[in-house]
Amino acid sequence: KLAATAANLWFGRKQVLKNVSVAFPKNKITALIGPSGCGKSTLLRCFNRMHDLSNDVTIEGKFLLEGEDLYKGSLSATEVRRRIGMVFQQANPFPKSIYENINYGLKINDIPKEERQEIIEHALKESYIWDEVKDDLQKPATRLSGGQQQRLCIARAVALRPEVILMDEPCSALDPISTSKIEELILKLKKDYTIVIVTHNMQQAQRVADQTVFMYLGEIIEAGDTSQIFDEPGMELTKNYVQGHF
Ligand code: ATP
Ligand code: MG
Repeated sequence: KLAATAANLWFGRKQVLKNVSVAFPKNKITALIGPSGCGKSTLLRCFNRMHDLSNDVTIEGKFLLEGEDLYKGSLSATEVRRRIGMVFQQANPFPKSIYENINYGLKINDIPKEERQEIIEHALKESYIWDEVKDDLQKPATRLSGGQQQRLCIARAVALRPEVILMDEPCSALDPISTSKIEELILKLKKDYTIVIVTHNMQQAQRVADQTVFMYLGEIIEAGDTSQIFDEPGMELTKNYVQGHF
């Protein structure tokens, strides 16, 4: 599992994560919900070491993958990012071919050249996009539709065989058909990965997530089975948020 314990984070003097403890179990989908600005993206980025480059950030607490400290151990940021993949709101393929979008990460992670073709094909199949792109893998990725680009970004993540896939509003820029394709894909990937999905779409959380975590102003207010969070929330704040009274 992936977990944070007693995590605090400041941007300059502004505290954005407050005593966050949370666990994302293996082979489960967790929805991370909460109002805009509550710290969802900031929390995901901690697990991916994306704050490393910024010198205005102070992080306390522990971030653990299978008990291994993502910051203090011997793990490099590259290794952490291989084991914990990330997919963003705006699909962000490199301005290169479909093939190269996946090949690039394989190169960086020293996957031998002769194995790459097969891994790329498998990742595209696993991400339900192979049939749409197989005829021309040299096509620039930026010429794919938004939904295809997002599935390519998922393929780019799964090609590295991560243990976890973090998705930050992966469908919010997509139409309903592309959204349901991605949801179907996420549900299928669950058997092989730990998945965290940030979403503002309460129906989506209920469709895909086994557990749901509600954040507010940098704190975890409540976490539990998705049906419990939506049908019998323990906190008034949670109830108001999931019912749309915010
Ligand atoms: P949304 O649902 O709108 O994506 P969020 O829950 O993902 O919101 P974050 O992006 O994590 O929210 O932002 C949490 C808080 O941290 C916000 O107040 C934001 O303004 C602030 N913040 C985020 N990034 C930085 C940064 N690089 N420097 C300073 N403040 C930041
Ligand atoms: Mg965000």
